[in-house]
Amino acid sequence: MNFLLSSEQIELQDALRRYLHAEVAPVVDAHEAESRMVPKHIVRAMRDFGLLGGLLPEASGGFALPMTTYGMLIAEVARVWPSLRSIVSTSNLAASVLADGGSSALKDKYLPRILSGEAIASFALSEPNIGSDAANIETRATVTGQGWKVSGRKLYISLGPVCELGVVFVRTGEAGKRQVSCLLFERDMPGFSSSPIPKMGMHSCPLGELLFDEVDIPRGNLIGQEGAGFSLAKKYLNVGRCVVAFSALGIAQAACDAAVRYAGERVQFGKPIASFQLVQHMIADMLTLVETSRLICYRAAAALDQDAADSQLLCSMAKRYATDAVLRVAEQSMQVHGGAGYTALFPVERYYRDARHLSIAEGTNQIQSLLIAQGVLGVSALK
Ligand SMILES: Cc1cc2nc3c(=O)[nH]c(=O)nc-3n(C[C@H](O)[C@H](O)[C@H](O)COP(=O)(O)OP(=O)(O)OC[C@H]3O[C@@H](n4cnc5c(N)ncnc54)[C@H](O)[C@@H]3O)c2cc1C
Repeated sequence: MNFLLSSEQIELQDALRRYLHAEVAPVVDAHEAESRMVPKHIVRAMRDFGLLGGLLPEASGGFALPMTTYGMLIAEVARVWPSLRSIVSTSNLAASVLADGGSSALKDKYLPRILSGEAIASFALSEPNIGSDAANIETRATVTGQGWKVSGRKLYISLGPVCELGVVFVRTGEAGKRQVSCLLFERDMPGFSSSPIPKMGMHSCPLGELLFDEVDIPRGNLIGQEGAGFSLAKKYLNVGRCVVAFSALGIAQAACDAAVRYAGERVQFGKPIASFQLVQHMIADMLTLVETSRLICYRAAAALDQDAADSQLLCSMAKRYATDAVLRVAEQSMQVHGGAGYTALFPVERYYRDARHLSIAEGTNQIQSLLIAQGVLGVSALK
């Protein structure tokens, strides 16, 4: 019995698993080794499983899936290809912001392209001087006759080097939360450029820096009210944290599966290493971490679905717990593999590299600790 999932959810999970196993798994290693972007046809196929536009309302072209279903799908994709997971969830994050605050004309123009997988979208908040302190962004938008002129740099932006468009958070007044606005930009706007940043893992989901050099963005590209950009970012970062937690769960599951498989195959002292108690101890630790991650992920997802008062708190807990747990699982899985685990001949070193950024992105785990404590103490360490 699976008390977390309904029979419909399990059916959807099975269909996605079959596709990932047959069409995706065989191409992952080569693409990651050569830092080739996930092929567009695979990104587009994610639409058929509800992964592109999953959480968006049907009126915006989405599937209005509950977070529990969407999270389950995200974990399955991350289990096979974390780069693909990141592409799908970054595009969805940008699409959710657009669907929430964009005018009908803006939504009609851009949402179908993002949700079909035809256009890759980015979410540009972080900057060289602004990471955890996201309310104080420095990228500046000044009013012109037609809209805004935007100047500034955005750093560590997933899909930055390849996105066709994106949502960018800019300062439209003096520093402070109520002065941040959100605008939609396109790659071919004069003055926009991007460059890639090499990184440790997820080589098929490029990361980059965006440069806005006096880019003219039309008035109609404003998303939400002027000055309401930071609340919009915060609203979706909370959902993003739950998504990151499910991604960690998926990678942890893959690392655990690999260790169980290897322990059964590898023979030392005339026996499979699975028969040694110290190896069994590592396997037991890994399984326990995976199952506790699963519980907190679904707990946070259910709270989001019910719009519960503690949903923000639970998303921060799930994000912090699952993204710490996956590192311990990947580390132990590497240990079970011995020397093989450190080589690129086995997938476990990639699981570690692909999981490592999860405790940093979407708000570091230190910031999650502060948000969790603030939720119960009522005192913020961030002001
Ligand atoms: C792979 C990857 C993908 C990313 N994708 C995106 C993206 O698509 N869009 C986007 O906008 N950003 C993205 N980011 C950026 C990410 O959101 C930031 O890296 C993150 O918010 C942390 O900011 P920072 O790197 O500037 O670290 P900093 O804020 O400089 O923090 C450095 C250290 O100080 C700690 N710290 C900071 N302030 C406090 C405090 N008040 N109390 C305690 N500890 C504190 C942090 O926890 C951390 O350990 C991505 C990052 C990575 C690594």
